[in-house]
Amino acid sequence: MSDAQPRPHARTQAVWAGEGGVFMGRATQVPVVHSVSFGYDDLDEWRAAALGEIPGHIYGRNTNPTVAVFEEKVRVLENAEAATSFSTGMAAISDTLFTLLEPGQRVVSVVDTYGGTNRMFSEFLPRVGVKVKLCPTADQAAIESAIDEGLRVLYLESPTNPTCKVLDLARLAARARAKGAIVVVDNTFATPINQHPLELGAHLVIHSATKFLGGHADALGGVVAGEKGLVESIFRRREITGATLHPEAAYLLLRGMKTLALRVERQNANALTIARWLKGRPEVEAVFYPGLEDHPGHDVARRQMPGGFGGVLSFQPRGGFESVRKLLPRLRWAHRAANLGAVETVVAPPAVGSHVELTAAERAALGIPEALVRYSCGIEDANDLIADLEQALAGIG
Ligand SMILES: *Cc1c(COP(=O)(O)O)cnc(C)c1O
Repeated sequence: MSDAQPRPHARTQAVWAGEGGVFMGRATQVPVVHSVSFGYDDLDEWRAAALGEIPGHIYGRNTNPTVAVFEEKVRVLENAEAATSFSTGMAAISDTLFTLLEPGQRVVSVVDTYGGTNRMFSEFLPRVGVKVKLCPTADQAAIESAIDEGLRVLYLESPTNPTCKVLDLARLAARARAKGAIVVVDNTFATPINQHPLELGAHLVIHSATKFLGGHADALGGVVAGEKGLVESIFRRREITGATLHPEAAYLLLRGMKTLALRVERQNANALTIARWLKGRPEVEAVFYPGLEDHPGHDVARRQMPGGFGGVLSFQPRGGFESVRKLLPRLRWAHRAANLGAVETVVAPPAVGSHVELTAAERAALGIPEALVRYSCGIEDANDLIADLEQALAGIG
């Protein structure tokens, strides 16, 4: 593109990207195409579509017109060469790791990746002979020396769940690239509004679309975007193993994504306001949020998250788990549930939510206090959320 217009802002892309097709009956909104199969009268055309020589859908496990629009919207927002989708975020992560890694090869990651991802590293990958090295998340030197020992895949997540640690993605990606590794980043917490892992050196970016991308906690989905050849090889596996995104879910995710920028901008602002407020409360022992100036990853986050620091924070009320037990039921404007990134505020203590399967000692080893609350800000008014937290904290004393 020689005399191309400047790249549109993500606010515009979130609304328009992928939606340029002429749909049935000239519908302005993307139709939900439930059809499992796509018919051809001309056998040469059918064969050419099946071989990918001309555009065209064949069978719903492989591709679908509604799902394709969702993939295109994510591709544009992540500024990627290609994108492919999955029934869930975990399907995206699993198919990606099993496509990239062969027995005897090595993957380097950190100890506090998403719980399901951690199970891939601790259980499923070792079972097929993949060597897994998990480093302490806050110890950059340890991650760097693990990279220097050689690897096929570097798998990162930033900010992390639930203590919002920040990894220097550009620095670690460059180090891994020098070793010939493929760099994969789970961008679920940050969203493409706040952070662009591909621009920081990742080959592939993954999302649980269930969270911020969809934003309404009513559809599961996953997506991988990045270098064309890699995305294609992951798609080749998914179209056979079958973790296909349903067209109905794709529609809900697409509709959610139109407001992605609006929502995330509000969630960023709410999280920063609330983190600062919590920090000043006598009932609160610690607050974890990369937007706070005294957060150990704040400077890196300021560089690599130009859009904002994200909608998720966590905090530790004084008084141990008993305080959390009293605090959470008092909150009026929050779902107590195992989810995040929705328009409603969602709270969960890792001890009963994301990290329930671990013992207290294992959680402590990961630096997760028993009395931690993960607070995923919704799009409500910050003053209402603060008033709600204030009355709830007053009741735990
Ligand atoms: C939820 C989540 C996943 C898994 O996504 P599902 O859609 O629930 O399978 C992966 N990574 C992160 C960071 C998540 O928050």
